[in-house]
Parts: sequence; C-alpha cells; structure tokens
Amino acid sequence: MRKVIPFERRAAASNTLGHVEAKCAHRNLRLVEQGGIVMCTDCHITLSPFWALSMLSEQYALSMAHIDRLKSRIQLADARILELSRELDAMLPAKRSPNKSSTDT
Ligand SMILES: [Zn+2]
Repeated sequence: MRKVIPFERRAAASNTLGHVEAKCAHRNLRLVEQGGIVMCTDCHITLSPFWALSMLSEQYALSMAHIDRLKSRIQLADARILELSRELDAMLPAKRSPNKSSTDT
C-alpha cells in the first residue's frame, strides 16, 4: 500500500550559515493555519517553526534586556532629579520654598 501525500516543495530556512548570510532577517512572520506553517511576509519564504520560535525567543530576551536598561536609566534620572532638587532647596532661603516638603520623602 502506497500512500504518498503530495507536499508543495518549499524552501525552508534553517539556522545555518547560509541563512545568516541571507539578506532578509525574517522578522515579520505570518502563521498559516492551513498546513501549520510559518512564513516570512517580507521574502515569502517558509520558515522552520523551530527557527521562528527561537528567533522570537531571542527577540523577546533582547526586548526584556532593553526594558531593564531603560528602567535603570529612569532610576538614575529620578535619583539625579532628587539630588538637584535638594541642591536647589539648599540654595533657596527656607521661607521661599513652601513646596520643599514635596521632595522630602
Ligand atoms: Zn524573510
């Protein structure tokens, strides 16, 4: 009994040097429910679902690291604002800074 399921022959990207050298980074993915495949909307290549998942995981990690860096910068900026506010309060006469309590927490 021979049962051959015809599949359309498609180029599949893999995590090889050839793929790294490709011009398209395949960042815009399209999930094709029929057949359960992942395609790049830019270059229309069919991607390995594992490769797509790995790429998304890598991009997620990069984004989370970027968020962490931005949070650190915000904390530094907040600390600097507090420091400058205290310096400004110290420069002003006490009776001219009625809003001083807002920075003294
Ligand atoms: Zn692509």
